[in-house]
Amino acid sequence: MTTHRRYQYAATAGAILLAAACAGSLAHRAYPPAVLFGLGVLILTEAALREHSRLKRRRLEDDWARRRALGENPPPLTPCCLLNSHSTDDIHDRNCTSDHTLTRFLDRIEQQGREEK
Ligand SMILES: [Zn+2]
Repeated sequence: MTTHRRYQYAATAGAILLAAACAGSLAHRAYPPAVLFGLGVLILTEAALREHSRLKRRRLEDDWARRRALGENPPPLTPCCLLNSHSTDDIHDRNCTSDHTLTRFLDRIEQQGREEK
């Protein structure tokens, strides 16, 4: 079991337990704890969804790397890497699936030079 899967299961279990505690608090008309339990449900649900998306991305990257190792030339994933999704194509992760050859770099520099003129 991967770490992301483990975190996803733990967050889901915690969200379910907090939802039960929230329902129990509401049944006993204890509203302040119910609000806090509800907040915990939201936070843990977001964590479970985040881990699910990381796991999904990891599977896509593994499949991409496997196809590449078999000699295929698969297109880069979108976004090419998780680090690039937060930058303007300047920073890339070591697991980047895009092409970062010298030719591409020089083409990009020339394109920037043309845009500045
Ligand atoms: Zn990238």
